[in-house]
Amino acid sequence: MTMLLTDNITVIKNLGPARAKAFSGVGVFTVLQLLNFLPRDYEDRSLVTPISELEADLRFTVKAKVALAPKNSGYYGSSVTNVLLEDETGRIEAVYFNQPYMKNTIKKGEIYYFSGKVIQRLAKLQLSSPDVTKLSGNPLNALRIIPIYTSCGMPQKLIRGYIKAVIDNCGAQIVETLPGKIADKFDIVSRACALSNIHFPTSKELFLKARERLVFEEFFVFQMALHALKGFVKKQITDIKILYSDYSKLNLPFKLTLAQEKALGQIISDMSGSNPMYRLIQGDVGSGKTIVAQIASYLAIKSGYQAAIMAPTEVLANQHFKSFKSLFEPIGIATCLITGSMAAAEKKAAASDITSGKAEMIIGTHTLIQENTLFSNLGLVITDEQHRFGVNQRAKLSEKGKLPHVLVMSATPIPRSLALVLYGDMDISVIDELPPGRQEISTFAVTTAYRKRVYDFISTHIEEGRQAYIICPSIEESGKLDIENVLDYAAMLKNEFLKGRNVAVLHGKMKPLEKQQVMEKFISGEISVLVSTTVIEVGVNVPNATVMVVENAERFGLSQLHQLRGRVGRGSDKSYCILFSDSKGQIAKERLSAMQGSSDGFRIAELDLSLRGPGDFFGTRQHGLPELKIGDIIRDAEILAKATQAVREYVEEISADSEIILDEFIDSVAKEVGKGF
Ligand code: ADP
Ligand code: MG
Repeated sequence: MTMLLTDNITVIKNLGPARAKAFSGVGVFTVLQLLNFLPRDYEDRSLVTPISELEADLRFTVKAKVALAPKNSGYYGSSVTNVLLEDETGRIEAVYFNQPYMKNTIKKGEIYYFSGKVIQRLAKLQLSSPDVTKLSGNPLNALRIIPIYTSCGMPQKLIRGYIKAVIDNCGAQIVETLPGKIADKFDIVSRACALSNIHFPTSKELFLKARERLVFEEFFVFQMALHALKGFVKKQITDIKILYSDYSKLNLPFKLTLAQEKALGQIISDMSGSNPMYRLIQGDVGSGKTIVAQIASYLAIKSGYQAAIMAPTEVLANQHFKSFKSLFEPIGIATCLITGSMAAAEKKAAASDITSGKAEMIIGTHTLIQENTLFSNLGLVITDEQHRFGVNQRAKLSEKGKLPHVLVMSATPIPRSLALVLYGDMDISVIDELPPGRQEISTFAVTTAYRKRVYDFISTHIEEGRQAYIICPSIEESGKLDIENVLDYAAMLKNEFLKGRNVAVLHGKMKPLEKQQVMEKFISGEISVLVSTTVIEVGVNVPNATVMVVENAERFGLSQLHQLRGRVGRGSDKSYCILFSDSKGQIAKERLSAMQGSSDGFRIAELDLSLRGPGDFFGTRQHGLPELKIGDIIRDAEILAKATQAVREYVEEISADSEIILDEFIDSVAKEVGKGF
């Protein structure tokens, strides 16, 4: 069979249109994409266990003879197939449910490998629906570490077989992506070896080397991408310069804090220089990053440019639009909003104002970076809550202008050690001071036995004219959708505990317009209690809200809880955060007590990491770390350190016209790895 990595997967034997369609559901169309479809887990079937040594509740592989012809029984359309197996040490029954064809697949007197879970049935052990593998020289489904793939509607065995065919036929076509010197120096196995062993490990050692290689590559490329972005921006000479540093005409509702002044000073100096600014403002929730962005925008606009800010959610984009508009329109600066949910005509009008230059301050979601939004004279590009965007998206927004200044804002309290790696090349301003008059938010972790008291507490606050948030996590186990949880919950409050109060609901599946209307009513104070999923997590600013209640708090990561808590305490009123949890787990208790004990985002991020047990997948999202395919920045810290070192050495080695090489490099790797950054 001749097979090319670029071929459609239908060239693979026995892979017809129906299977191809199933694979398209997981984004696999070409042979190369199938090769990059990595296992989500493994099962160690390298050992064969004698039947007499099997134990309940564990998975085993036995090599056994079929002692009796398999029998089918069952009724009402269900079927059970029983197969008696034996080896020199004993006998065990294998049981299949609703796989009547097994009766004919498994033949009496033959020897096979059976792999599956052993369960206790009354006094006896049983093998539950074990995989059957014929004895052969080098079986694919036994006597090795077996890959397990994200299910895509076909048996694992089939997926394994297809991928094996790809490796056998195309192994030699796998292109090396890492520079040879780097691979040698850091003892990294080839991409071909890595891919072969990540699918079908020939030994534990090689599996680990394979994984190390792929994680290393991912980190290496990610950091190279950051580097290229910075190199691209920094080494350029830009004509865009601001001519003003006076913003006294801007009617600020308050005096800047020293930390805000300092960050602004750095921004002004960057934007007056001849290289484009490339700066991150890092400040804890509520530290007041928005106003700094607003002043920077004002100065850019007054100097004759457009300024744009991109927010990760529509809720946040709308909020920014309001806030920018109320500050800018009184002094004659035209403000414009563009989001994905706007009606086509509206969007078109906005886009045309952006292109003509009529719109000076532009606020939007990722719609801003779409092809058809052209700017007339973009001078400053801001991304808010930048961790929600990929490096690529940031770069795209910059490319909308001729070397505009770039400002990114993040509240994500990344531990300093990691910030250095992720933003090592960016200039950083830290806003490490909260606006004056803020009071410490009191945090209480309580069990649901306190429900009534908590709702009474909310009532008291509503009486005083304040507002509250109640956050419900997604609870998949209940079999209900998040929406139902939130809706039921809100109904329960309205009927029972908070009768007569204005309780409203916000969740991710609502139409953008509905969401916006609810947010507006909450901002105006018409709604007293907002029952919400985590859609409000980032950026939302309603200073009159003073109570934050989080249901099933143990389900959230610490950093996420910190973000949620940051939705209150945004004014000068005393605020409260109540974390409901009935969890008895030790780690959950420690985490919640950490929330009670600290209000410092950095400290919390560090605790969060130290409390993450191995194999404990919280996802990287809440840390604001980039989403990686296989690497985990925390658990693979050692590989990350290696890759960081490698990037440093590689960058030093390549010469002055490095951006071009870097860009090419990144493009070529992205092509092989099948992933953009
Ligand atoms: P974040 O840094 O989380 O984005 P925001 O920019 O939304 O925070 O600011 C939080 C709140 O603090 C807003 O209501 C804002 O108006 C207010 N604020 C910001 N700076 C100051 C200041 N210097 N003095 C008083 N209030 C401020
Ligand atoms: Mg913000």
